[in-house]
Amino acid sequence: MANTADLALSLLRDDRLPHIWCAGCGHGIVLGAIVRALAERIAAGSIDPAKVVVVSGIGCASRATGYLNFDGVHSTHGRAIAFATGIKLARPELEVVVITGDGDLAAIGGNHFIHAARRNIGLTVVCFNNAIYGMTSGQYSPMTPREAIATTAPYGHIERPFDLCELALACGATYVARGAAYFAARLTEYVGGALDHDGFSFVEAVSQCPTYFGRRNRMSTGVDMLRWQKDHAVTLARAASAEPEGLAGKFKVGVFRDREEPEYTKEYDRIIQAATSRTVGDGK
Ligand code: SF4
Ligand code: MG
Repeated sequence: MANTADLALSLLRDDRLPHIWCAGCGHGIVLGAIVRALAERIAAGSIDPAKVVVVSGIGCASRATGYLNFDGVHSTHGRAIAFATGIKLARPELEVVVITGDGDLAAIGGNHFIHAARRNIGLTVVCFNNAIYGMTSGQYSPMTPREAIATTAPYGHIERPFDLCELALACGATYVARGAAYFAARLTEYVGGALDHDGFSFVEAVSQCPTYFGRRNRMSTGVDMLRWQKDHAVTLARAASAEPEGLAGKFKVGVFRDREEPEYTKEYDRIIQAATSRTVGDGK
């Protein structure tokens, strides 16, 4: 049997190479974490590759579905979770993985995100967060930090970004984690935890766009941006004992929540069973 590294490589469609991502982009590293986490579980027999479906929206991150050897849907902007919800409801036995960017997920897709989390539907959602709209040349997204420079904020951005993990937690997601491209091995563990979890699972992967974010914000290469991730990430354990001013400008990494609660399609099945067990016309 192939080892896990070979298996991970076999999950990539090399007939689709070369990929579209720029040199130094973080998205390949994040996709690598997803592929390795899936390969580990396929090798262990806990995931059947024939039952994996990958779903994405629109944007640089969303191109990832086309590079994967699974059934998949490259859907419409912001609607990946809506498509994924339909697939999971129709075929609850499938392992449905959503690949999305910060613009796709948090702007036009924001309502799908919060309601899927609230329902605790069994999707694994991985957000490639590069804090910008990369594919359309660097407009600010809901994740762009204050004072950053973007195509649509040439004098500095005045809005506050979301904290996507806090948003997911507030909406009831039952598995929530944040990692970063720099910490690829840890990111693989977080995606693995999300795949193992039965319920709405969200992983924010801090990624880098040197082309449209870095170059405008004094980080001209992917390496500069990876260094920024290394220097600004704080583990949850360290954050718990830090003074608030010590966390300014930093981002927390780790598993924020891993909690079992009734999964939506199983609850829905219970309702279907109750409804179909009634005799038509029994008046109950
Ligand atoms: Fe990556 Fe940015 Fe290039 Fe898109 S534009 S592929 S996010 S570096
Ligand atoms: Mg983006």
